[in-house]
Amino acid sequence: MKWVWRGLVLVLVAVLALVGVVLARTLMMRAPEAAAAVELPAPPAIDEAAAAARLGEAIRFRTISREAGVVDDPESFRGLHAFLARAYPRTHAAFTREYVNDLSLLYTLPGSDPSAAPILLLAHQDVVPVEAGTEGDWEAEPFSGALIDGMVYGRGAADDKGSLIAILEATEALLAQGFTPRRGVILAFGHDEEVSGAGAAAMAALLRERNIRPWFALDEGMAVVLDEPTTGGPVALIGVAEKGYMSVRVAARAEGGHSSMPQAETAADKLARAIIAIRARPFRGGVQDGPAGALLDALGPRLGFMQRMAIANRWLFGGLIEEQVSASPAGDAILRTTIAPTILAGGAKDNILPQEMHAIINLRLHPRDSVASALAHLRASVADIDGVTIEPEGAPNEPSPVSSTQGEAYALIASAAAAHVPEGAPVAPMLVLAATDSRHYVGVAENVYRFQPVWARRADLSRVHGTGERLAVADMGRMARFYAQLIAAGAR
Ligand SMILES: [Zn+2]
Repeated sequence: MKWVWRGLVLVLVAVLALVGVVLARTLMMRAPEAAAAVELPAPPAIDEAAAAARLGEAIRFRTISREAGVVDDPESFRGLHAFLARAYPRTHAAFTREYVNDLSLLYTLPGSDPSAAPILLLAHQDVVPVEAGTEGDWEAEPFSGALIDGMVYGRGAADDKGSLIAILEATEALLAQGFTPRRGVILAFGHDEEVSGAGAAAMAALLRERNIRPWFALDEGMAVVLDEPTTGGPVALIGVAEKGYMSVRVAARAEGGHSSMPQAETAADKLARAIIAIRARPFRGGVQDGPAGALLDALGPRLGFMQRMAIANRWLFGGLIEEQVSASPAGDAILRTTIAPTILAGGAKDNILPQEMHAIINLRLHPRDSVASALAHLRASVADIDGVTIEPEGAPNEPSPVSSTQGEAYALIASAAAAHVPEGAPVAPMLVLAATDSRHYVGVAENVYRFQPVWARRADLSRVHGTGERLAVADMGRMARFYAQLIAAGAR
């Protein structure tokens, strides 16, 4: 019996050691951002109400994007350009302004040190249309720029004329103080972000051609979420990467013929089987690496003991965390490449067996996957179904690389963000699920980040691209001060 006791003692020692490691890791967990605070100058005085009124005016130019390669109403863009020149005279005197791809705007303020990499701020001039028939559901006419109860209403208020106006409010206020930067300051305002981003692509190509390599680029894409689901409180989320985009056509072929004598497996059967097989084999997730891992590292120290223990010991509890996070569609989308069948088509007549039916499946590619690896994954899922092929549909976008959360650029943006959050709220890196213009600057700027200090509840997000888009006057002020501090500290 002696060996049984010896075995039990060994197991006990192993369990105690495990508990010791888990506890030690839990207790030693610290917020990573605490180490890297950058000192910021006081922001210049910003007249919030006047800035909000100028945003309202910018909204009244109907700079709508409907279709890639087609500008709906070029005159509305030219009207906006003339308004900007009138509203921000100091900026237009100090910066050079170039038109790129006809309507995109590239502003450059050279720095005193030509060898220093400039900073690059991005925004876009265009807006999505308002769905016909929904105008009456808005609190104010969608292109009125009306001010009601401390909110500016109108298409583009949040996406993305708010940023554009706030950046110019910032440069104007800094220049009024006699601002002379060491680093150059570049502003790039695309005109077709909502359809193709060809304007941003052309501006990025121009910078590359001129051998201008910005220290960092900052775009829209993430904000201060007041009800972040992990902590239940406010968190400033800084986009450090964005997902790629690919649609594929899944085609199923069969013999066809008269519907009175169907074969054992029709094109419709094969297509159905293929979609189920694809959906049943999700892409790899994971909470160890990538933006999800960095997000958990940043938020972990703020959470209760049990959650902190799980996050600090992902080598042990990673599977459990992943299961919880992926239970919601929004959480799952952060962890992996998503698979969404969006179109099913085929068949001409009710009594004819189609020879081909197809589905379009839309993928949003996680940074750990690529267009090629995702295609291979999908093809492997249907390898045993005869007559099914998968090909890319349209031009796919690779996911962006993940920008560093360690360097000085991230520390600067995180510090500026921390100055404009509700008291004590943390700053954390995040993966952006949608596409922004910033993807065109990958490989041009050293790092690309996506953040505006707008305070938003998750329920408000449906207003962007939806009904009742708006921006709080207080957010306008926060954004202008944030950009001013970021430019002043970044360019010094
Ligand atoms: Zn946008």
